[in-house]
Amino acid sequence: MENQHVKCLIIGGGPAGYTAAIYASRAALEPVLYEGNEPGGQLTTTTVIENFPGFPGGVDANQLMNGMREQAVKLGADIRRGVVTEVDLGSRPFAFTVDGEKRISADAVIIATGATARYLGLPSEQKFKGMGVSACATCDGFFYRKKDVAVVGGGDTACEEATYLAGLCRKVYMIVRRDALRASEAMQQRVRNTANIEILWNCNTREVLGDANGVTGVSVIRKDGEVFDIAVDGFFVAIGHHPQSDLFAKWIDTDENGYIVTNGRDSRTNIEGVFAAGDVQDPHYRQAINAAASGCRAALDAEKYLKR
Ligand code: NDP
Repeated sequence: MENQHVKCLIIGGGPAGYTAAIYASRAALEPVLYEGNEPGGQLTTTTVIENFPGFPGGVDANQLMNGMREQAVKLGADIRRGVVTEVDLGSRPFAFTVDGEKRISADAVIIATGATARYLGLPSEQKFKGMGVSACATCDGFFYRKKDVAVVGGGDTACEEATYLAGLCRKVYMIVRRDALRASEAMQQRVRNTANIEILWNCNTREVLGDANGVTGVSVIRKDGEVFDIAVDGFFVAIGHHPQSDLFAKWIDTDENGYIVTNGRDSRTNIEGVFAAGDVQDPHYRQAINAAASGCRAALDAEKYLKR
C-alpha cells in the first residue's frame, strides 16, 4: 500500500486543529490535517458565539470555524476529509491509517481530536439540540436570561453550570438522579448557597418537552414513580464529557477520565514528537478560545521539535 510521508500531521478539525494548522503553515511545516467525523468540531452544534473575542455582534459558529479552516488553507495547510483509524506511535516516523486504508507517516503529530459531551440519549433531547437543549452553559446560558432552565447531573460540571446559570436566569432546576451530588464539597456548598437553584433529588428526565419554537419543559420521573412536568426554556445536560483519546491510549498517558496529560504549560505528551491541544487534553476550561490557544502552542512546540 502506498505510504505518504509528512512532516507534521494534525488530527482533528476543531479550533485547536485549525489554529495549529495556521501556525504550522506559517512555520513552513507543511501540515496535513485530517478533520475527522465532525469538521468544525463541537462548536458546530451550537448557533451564535458571543464570547469569542473580536466579534462584538457575535459570530455564527459555522462561520467562525469555516473562517479558521479557510485561513489555514490560504496559508498552505493541506486540510483533508478523513478519519484517522489506526495509529502506531511506537515507531519512527509515526504511522497512521486513514479511513481504514490510506497510509500516512509523520515526523511530528498534533492530537486535537476534542471531546464529546455525553447526552442522555433521549430522542426528544436530540430533536431540540440547539433549540433549548445544550451541553454548555457558558456558550448558551446568555440566551436564557431571566428565564427558567434545568440542568441534568450532579457532578462538578453540573454544579458549575447551575451556579453560572443562576446568575443569569430566574430559576435553575437541577435534575439529580440520586439523593446526593457527586460534586466536590466546595461546589455543593455554592449550590446550596444559591437561592434560585432547586434540586430535584432522585429524579430522571423522561422527555424534553417542546414545540416548534423549542424547549418548553421537562417531564421528570422520581424514583418513587411520581411523574411531573417542570416548565423551562433551556435544558442543559452536564453528565460528563468523553475525550476522544481512545485511539492513542496505548501509547499516550491519560488521566483517570481519559484526558491526555500534557507537560504543564506546553503541549508535549509523554512521547517526544507527539503534542496534544484542545479539549482532548483540557478537562477544565473547554472553550473554543482556549482550544485555539493550545493549538497555537502545539504548533510552536512541534516547530521547535522539528527544527532541532
Ligand atoms: P462527573 O462524572 O463527575 O459527574 C457526572 C454527573 O452526571 C454525576 O452526578 C452523575 O450521577 C450524573 N449522570 C451521569 N450519567 C447520567 C445519566 N444518564 N442521567 C442522569 N445523571 C447522570 O462529570 P463532570 O463533568 O461533572 O466532571 C468530570 C471531571 O471533571 C470530574 O473529575 C470533576 O471533578 C472535574 N471537574 C472539575 C471542575 C472544577 O474543579 N471546577 C469543574 C468541572 C469538572 P451519579 O453521581 O449518580 O453517577
